[in-house]
Amino acid sequence: AVDIHANPYKQDFPLLANHPEIAFLDSAATAQRPACVLDASRHFYETMNANPLRGLYSLSVEATEAIAKVRAQIAALIGAVDDAGNPLANDVVFTRNTSESLNLVAKSFAPTVLKAGDEVVISIMEHHSNLIPWQQACRKVGATLVYLRPDDQGVITDDEIAAKIGPATKIVAIGEVSNVLGVRNPVEKIAAAAHANGAYVVVDGAQSTPHMAVDVRELGADFFAFSAHKALGPMGIGVLWGKHELLDQMPPMLTGGEMIDSVTEQDAVWAPVPEKFEAGTQDAASIYATGVALDYLANTVGYEAVQGREQALVAYLMQQLAKLDYVDIIGPDDPALHHGVVSFNVRGIHPHDVASIMDMSGVCIRAGHHCAQPLLTWLGVENLACCRASVAFYNDAADIDAFVAGIKQVWSTFNG
Ligand code: PMP
Repeated sequence: AVDIHANPYKQDFPLLANHPEIAFLDSAATAQRPACVLDASRHFYETMNANPLRGLYSLSVEATEAIAKVRAQIAALIGAVDDAGNPLANDVVFTRNTSESLNLVAKSFAPTVLKAGDEVVISIMEHHSNLIPWQQACRKVGATLVYLRPDDQGVITDDEIAAKIGPATKIVAIGEVSNVLGVRNPVEKIAAAAHANGAYVVVDGAQSTPHMAVDVRELGADFFAFSAHKALGPMGIGVLWGKHELLDQMPPMLTGGEMIDSVTEQDAVWAPVPEKFEAGTQDAASIYATGVALDYLANTVGYEAVQGREQALVAYLMQQLAKLDYVDIIGPDDPALHHGVVSFNVRGIHPHDVASIMDMSGVCIRAGHHCAQPLLTWLGVENLACCRASVAFYNDAADIDAFVAGIKQVWSTFNG
């Protein structure tokens, strides 16, 4: 059994180690960073800083190679490999974040396959990042945005998939894990239905990559997006993986330096994938640090330990909340269906008040619409707002105890 009272990880995270008074329960918004990631940025600037791709001197070559290595590492991590198991490093595109990755697909790829009358299918629990780009893409060509809706336990059922994905479907874009309900969606089944109808599958992995091993081939993804900052890496680095033939055929979203093969007065020839999509100077130090972050997450800690601890922490948290009859959970009853995320409301008290009062005792939770307004509207959540506690493997039972004490404090403040 996992001992959530012990915490072998906190010492690796300077912000947590130096601030024992903080109970950080907002990792779904952005993770804390271990020292090795902070050190990696500095290491890059101290030992290999040069503009990658531009130079022919060895320092610049070293920077270029460091980026290439992280591409290969990410490809291997998410199962983007050829039949012989070699990582497809060049099909990993660096962006600024998940939002930019999804915009790239919606703006560059979608217009190549969408026409009036077609359907794009997403789910009602999508983050605005995987929703607004599709609204825009549909509006542009006169396509229709169709929503998969879960049952009362957060499950998108086989019947729902069969009812919504059909011959008119051209693209299905689905979050692997919901940042509000915490559920993992049946991406494999959704992708199979999409492919059976000749549609393409885009997976928003922003909330899965920090918590679980990802295999884009098993998922059936054609595109997969995530952000480094939710997976212990720096802010400002996103990833878009795509199937090579799709990346190859789609036009760039941004143009300029470093993304061309040759330029004449009136024309330009694009560089091959991935450079075609990476105009301008990259944040090479942060890409290097992303490699260190993902290595720490997947190898030093390991997804098995991550999941074991997070499941135990969520189970403990929900068990404590269940004792408070004034707390309503938004999402499934079964803690095992929550992947690091528990959303809730304290009856009659605005979520902003809950979060502010909790902050006074050092408990960091999120309150608001969580960039999922259509979901909260559909669920009929009062004020279109809720509270969200989200855990990572570096949390412990003391964090949960501080959180539960904070909730009781909130209740007695208003009802004392
Ligand atoms: N999708 C999901 C499911 C998310 O939780 C988030 C971040 N809250 C995003 C997309 C957007 O990520 P970013 O802000 O890094 O672009």
